[in-house]
Amino acid sequence: MSRIAYVNGFYVPHSKASVHIEDRGYQFADGVYEVVYQDEGRLIDAGLHLARLERSLRELKIPAPVGGSALLTILDEVSRRNRLASGLLYVQVTRGVAPRNHAFPPPGTRPSLVVTMRRTAPFPETLAGWTGSAIVVPDQRWARCDIKSVSLLPNVLAKQAAREQGATEAIMVDADGMVTEGSSTTVWMVDKSGVLRTRALSERVLPGCTRAALLEEMAACGLVLEERPFSLAEIRTATEVFVTSATSFVKPILALDGAPVGDGKVGEVATRLFGMLARRIRAGRNA
Ligand code: PLP
Repeated sequence: MSRIAYVNGFYVPHSKASVHIEDRGYQFADGVYEVVYQDEGRLIDAGLHLARLERSLRELKIPAPVGGSALLTILDEVSRRNRLASGLLYVQVTRGVAPRNHAFPPPGTRPSLVVTMRRTAPFPETLAGWTGSAIVVPDQRWARCDIKSVSLLPNVLAKQAAREQGATEAIMVDADGMVTEGSSTTVWMVDKSGVLRTRALSERVLPGCTRAALLEEMAACGLVLEERPFSLAEIRTATEVFVTSATSFVKPILALDGAPVGDGKVGEVATRLFGMLARRIRAGRNA
């Protein structure tokens, strides 16, 4: 069965889905996106993803192409037409098609909306085999990383560097030697004193929806987190490092630049957080 994509009001075969060459997403990376995991027909943390999409659009002054409930209907329809109960939904909104000119196009220019879905591995049963490794790279991004913009070139280069070195993720470090985030993930660590840490939200990092979901779950369980940045020197002495995202869920990083993290095995804290996310997904509490 062929894949179906949604493009500006139409459901079309994936192989024929296209936007105009003067789409501002294509020419200026003038757009935003979301990636949402769907598990057995239920979108995971749809509310968090929709809220972040609305915020990204607002920050860039891109009009919303459709309202939230219409978007949910489109996501549902894409899933139905692809006959996929589980997988990743990709939503992209750009400022639309207009003659190439850096300044915004005239008011009334219709933003472009594209939705696709692809099959992914199901949510893992356990963390055995669901692990990765990372390299450290300089963070070369702009100053508004809190906006989920499609302008991802530094992230692309970072991930490619990781691939070329046989690692699964690139952890970015800013000019002050502080860890910001992964090329497509939030980074967490357990420090030498046993404290679980991740950076506080700011314009330097994307506000991860998985991060937000885990914070809710942790508060309910009384698991303590310090939202405090950590340096490259600190992460190198961490007892656990793991990354989170809608695609990687909770993924322990067992080696950093080729050196084992802690004892090189899946840690207790990552296992607990993974369990919390697994329960949340199963319970569908967040629907
Ligand atoms: N940080 C970056 C740079 C990302 O690209 C992503 C996800 O794509 C994340 C963090 C994690 O966000 P989420 O948990 O919403 O997937």
